[in-house]
Amino acid sequence: MTIQLPHQDHGTAIAAEYNIARSPKWSQVQKQHLKLQPLCVACKLGTNSQTKPQVHHIFPFHYCIVLGRPDLELDQRNLITLCENEAGHPADNHHLLIGHLDDFKSSNLDVVVDAKTTFQGMSASDIKNDLRWKQKKTTSLKPLDKMTPQDKVDFLAKMNTWFPKK
Ligand SMILES: [Zn+2]
Repeated sequence: MTIQLPHQDHGTAIAAEYNIARSPKWSQVQKQHLKLQPLCVACKLGTNSQTKPQVHHIFPFHYCIVLGRPDLELDQRNLITLCENEAGHPADNHHLLIGHLDDFKSSNLDVVVDAKTTFQGMSASDIKNDLRWKQKKTTSLKPLDKMTPQDKVDFLAKMNTWFPKK
């Protein structure tokens, strides 16, 4: 079975702003993840329904690298599949809306529970009108360059608690 990788790669563009590049192993890890979890967790769209799901990092990979857990870039525990709207491939954009709260510079650390339950099966417009989603946007993850030293310590502790080093 051939796994098609998505054309757009927002994570690479954001990380490049911090002079961080994807690991050369990322492409392989991404394909492996799409074999394990081929469908968007929020709406069950997969490559065979004309969309190209994205592999999203729960803890954004540039935070992992800068804050001391570079292994999480390539750790399956830190990955979730979400659909993305692309030209010719309509989707509800769960990558952007649930993974990044409508801003690729930000991230939603509750993405797993939100994709599986809170916003499960909801359309893009329903999500954008949902008060819980609007509330989340106001408390979304700080950009890396806006974090205080204490924020960074807390973030590393969270990564270590959720995904202990193997
Ligand atoms: Zn979806």
